Amino acid sequence: VHRDNPRANSGHFVTAVMQNSIVRRGQKPAALAACLAASACPSQAASAFGLTAPMSQPQFDLAISAGVLALFFASVLLWVYARHRRLKLRERRRTRFASAALNNMPHGIIMVDSQHRMAFCNDQYLAIYGLTRADVRPRMPFSELLALRRARGTFDGDVTWRVKPGSSDNYIREIAGGRAIRISRRSLPGGGFVSLHEDFSDHRDLSRQLATTKGFLESVIDNIPVCVAVKSIEDGRYILANRAFEQFSRFPREKIVGARPEDIFTLQSAEAVLKADADAIASKGGNVTLEVVVERGDERRVLGSRRVVAHDEYGEPKFLIALFEDITERRALSAELEETKKFLELVLDHIPTAILVKRVADRKYLFVNRHAEAFMERPRRDMIGKRIDQVFPPDRAAFVDHRDQDAIRMRGEVLSEEYPAKVGAELRLFMARRVAVLDDAGAPQYLIQIDEDITERRRAESRMAHMAYHDGLTDLPNRVAFMQALLQMIDASKGADQFAVLSVDLDRFKEVNDVFGHAVGDKLLIEASRRIQAAAQGAVVARLGGDEFGMIIDGVQPDAGRALAERLMRAMQKEFVIDDKTIRLGLTTGIAVFPSNGDDPAQLLANADVALFRAKAQARGSVCVFEAEMDQQIRDRRAMHQELAQAIRNNELVLNYQPLAKIGQAVVGFEALVRWHHPLRGVVSPGMFIPLAEESGLIVEMGEWILREACREAASWDKPLQIAVNLSPVQFLHGDLVALVHAILMETGLAPGRLELEITEGVLIGDFDRGLSILRRLKALGVRIAMDDFGSGYSSFAYLQSFPFDKIKIDREFVMNLGRNVQSAAIIRAVIGLGRGLDVPIVAEGVETEEQLSFLASEACDQVQGYFIGKPAPIQHYADLVCGAVAPVRKAG
Ligand code: C2E
Ligand code: CA
Ligand code: CA
Repeated sequence: VHRDNPRANSGHFVTAVMQNSIVRRGQKPAALAACLAASACPSQAASAFGLTAPMSQPQFDLAISAGVLALFFASVLLWVYARHRRLKLRERRRTRFASAALNNMPHGIIMVDSQHRMAFCNDQYLAIYGLTRADVRPRMPFSELLALRRARGTFDGDVTWRVKPGSSDNYIREIAGGRAIRISRRSLPGGGFVSLHEDFSDHRDLSRQLATTKGFLESVIDNIPVCVAVKSIEDGRYILANRAFEQFSRFPREKIVGARPEDIFTLQSAEAVLKADADAIASKGGNVTLEVVVERGDERRVLGSRRVVAHDEYGEPKFLIALFEDITERRALSAELEETKKFLELVLDHIPTAILVKRVADRKYLFVNRHAEAFMERPRRDMIGKRIDQVFPPDRAAFVDHRDQDAIRMRGEVLSEEYPAKVGAELRLFMARRVAVLDDAGAPQYLIQIDEDITERRRAESRMAHMAYHDGLTDLPNRVAFMQALLQMIDASKGADQFAVLSVDLDRFKEVNDVFGHAVGDKLLIEASRRIQAAAQGAVVARLGGDEFGMIIDGVQPDAGRALAERLMRAMQKEFVIDDKTIRLGLTTGIAVFPSNGDDPAQLLANADVALFRAKAQARGSVCVFEAEMDQQIRDRRAMHQELAQAIRNNELVLNYQPLAKIGQAVVGFEALVRWHHPLRGVVSPGMFIPLAEESGLIVEMGEWILREACREAASWDKPLQIAVNLSPVQFLHGDLVALVHAILMETGLAPGRLELEITEGVLIGDFDRGLSILRRLKALGVRIAMDDFGSGYSSFAYLQSFPFDKIKIDREFVMNLGRNVQSAAIIRAVIGLGRGLDVPIVAEGVETEEQLSFLASEACDQVQGYFIGKPAPIQHYADLVCGAVAPVRKAG
C-alpha cells in the first residue's frame, strides 16, 4: 500500500530534486577556484607598479603604458570582482531559496555524505526527532547525530550504523510518544545517502481505525444468523460470503469468494439464483423479496431472500447484496398450519350443530358452519362480514344482540339457554350456548355461539330415565324400581300394616324359548305380562328377570297374597296363541310377608324366592308361603353343593345297576345309576344331586367317573351284556366327550358295541349342531345311542329323524299311568309303532306290575325295565346274572 501511495511517489520526486541540487552544489567548489585564480592577478599587477625610481620618456611611455595597462587590469579586476559579488549574491540567494524550500517541505530530509557526515538536514527533520538547529553543526558525523537522537528518545538503534552502498529502503519506525515515522532512504552514487522522513502517526491511526471498523463490520456480517452474499454484477462472482452462507452452502468462504452460483449450486438451483438476481436488478428500486428453491445434496431447501442492488456513483448497478434464510421448516410448518386450519374448518363444517363466531369489536360474523346456514336459513356468504342487523329483521336482531351482550359480559363463562322454535310445522327444542373467547389481556375477542337441536336428546333422556326403571321388553318396572317400591312400602307401613311380596315364576318358559325360539319367547313374555298386570288389580308388578316377576300387595296376609297368586293362575289358564302356536303356561309362586318374614327389601325378596323354590320342589303351579325352616333347607342345599364337590374324592359315590330285559327272555343288559352315600344324610337320590352337579359343572368330573366305573365293571363280566350309562347335556358342552369315551373304552377294554349311552333331548335342544356332531362321532366309535325319557318333554320327532338312535326309552310316566288314563296306552302303542316303522327297538321303563308287563307284551314292546324286573342295586346283587346261567324273566300272566 505504501509503495503505491502517491504521497510516497512525491517522496521520490523530492529526492530527485534534491539530488540535482546536490549535484550543482558539487560544482560550486570548482567555480570558486576559478574566481580565486582571477582575483590573484590584481595583486601581481600591483607589485608590478611598485614606485621604485624617476623615469625617462621611454621610461615614461613605458610608465604611461604600464599605468594604462594597470588601469585596464584594475578595471578588469573591478569588473571581475563586481561580477563575482553578483554571482555570489545570486548563489547565496539561490542557496537560501533552496534551503527555505527544503525547510518548508512537510517531510524531514537528511543528506549524509560519503564520509558519513551530515551534509544537510531540514527543519522538519529536526522537529520530527526533537532536535534544534543549535544541536547540529555542518558536517557533523552522522553517528553523533544518531547519539543525539538517542538521547532525545527518537532513536533506539545502533548509532554506528552505516548505510550499505547502493541500497535503498522504505520502512516505518516507531518512536517515543507512540509516533510512527515513515522513512524512505536512497544511497547516493558516490557514497552517502539521502532519506526522507514523514510523521505517519495520524495516518496510521486513521488506517488502524479503518481497519478496526472494517473488522467490526465484517464480524457483524459474519455473525448475523442470516446468509449474506455479495456479488459483483459485472461478472456475477461472489465477493463476500458470511459464515451463515458458508454453513448453508457447506462451502468454505475461500471457495465461495470468486466463484459463481453454478460453482456452488446444482445447475438448476444456480438458474433459480440467477433468475432471482436478474429480477432484483430489473426491479424498480433494485430491491426485491422473493423465495428461491435450491437443492442441497438430495434435499430441496426453500430460501426466503431479499436482494438489494448497490449502485456506483454514476448510478450503474455495481453489487448485488443477497440476504437469505433457510425457511424450509418454517414453510413446511406454515403449510401444515394451513392444512390444519383447513382440516379444522372441514371438521367444524361437518359437526351437526350450528356454530357461529362473531368478532366482539364490531359484532360481525367471522365464521358460520354449514349446519348454521341451514339453521339460520341464510347462506354463509350473506352473513360473514356482516352484523346481525344487516342480516335479520330488527326485532330478531335486537333479541340476538341482547343475548350476545349478556354472554360477552360473562367473560368466558358459558351462557346456555333452552328455547323452543318452529322448524317447518314442528315445534322443536333448542339449546343455545354462547361463550366469549378472551384475548391475552382478558378482553372478550370472539363470541362463539352454538345452537343445537336437543329435541331428540331430551326425548332420549326421558326414554333413558324410563329405561333405567323399566324393563325394555314388557315395559313393566324392573328390579331396581321394584326394590325402590319395596323400600317405600316398608317406610309407609311403619311396622303396623302388613303386605306381601310375591315371587312368581313362569313354568317351563325356558323350554318354550328353546323349542320355539326367542322371538316367540319374547312375545309370550309380553302377553303374559299383560295378563299378570291385569290380574294384579293395582298391585305393584315388576319383571325381575327372565321369566321371574315380583309383586307387592297390601291387606291381611298371607290371604291377600294367596288370593293374588290364585288370580294370576286363573289368568294363565287360557292358552296363549303366539305366531299360530298354542302354548300353555303355568305359574309357581312364593310369598313372603312383611314384617314377619323380613323388614328390608332384600330380605323380603330373598325369602319370597326361597318360598318359590320350595313351591317348585313341591309341584309346578303351586303356591308356597315362606316359613322359617325353608331358610334352613336353602342353607342345606348350599352346604350340599360344597359336600358334593368332595364326594368323588371321598369315594362316596357308588353305582347301582338295574337290569333291562327282553319280554319273556333273559336280561340283556344293565343301566348304571349313580348313588351318593352321604356320611350324615344317608343315600342321596340322583334326582336331588344330579341337577346340583349340573348347576356347578361338577357333572363333568362326576360323569367321567361314572362312565369309567360302569365300563370297568361291565368289562369284568363273563357275559357280554349291554351296559347303559346316562349322560347329562352339560357333558356335551364341556370337555371332549368323544375323546373321553374313546379313551375309557381303550382303557377298560370294553367292546364299544356293549356300551349304550342314554341321552335326553336336552342334548339337542341347546346347540343342535354341536349335539348332533358329537352324537355322530360317538356313534362312529361303535357305541350305541339311546333316546331316554321319550315323551316327557317336547320330544320333537325331528330329533328322531335327524339321528339314527339305537333305542328309544318311553318315559316311565306313561307306563305308570297305564290303566289310570286311556291316553297312556294309546301313546305307548303309538311309540311302539313308531319304533317299528323306524326299525328302532323300544324300551318301556318303570314297569312295576304284571299288568303293565302283560300290556307291553301284548303290544310286542321290545324291552322292559322296572322294579318288576329288577330294582337298581349293587352289582353283587346280580352277580349270577353277569357270571352264571342267565335266569329267564317271569312271564306275564
Ligand atoms: P332315568 O335315567 O330315567 O333312570 C331311571 C330312573 O327310574 C331311576 O331313578 C330308577 O331308579 C327309576 N326306576 C326304575 N324302575 C322303576 C320303577 O319300576 N318304578 C319307579 N318309580 N322308578 C323306577 P334314579 O336312579 O333315582 O335316577 C333318576 C334319574 O337320575 C335318572 O333317570 C337319570 O336321569 C338320573 N341319573 C341317575 N343316574 C345317573 C347317572 O349316572 N348319570 C346321569 N347323568 N344321570 C343319572
Ligand atoms: Ca336312563
Ligand atoms: Ca329314563
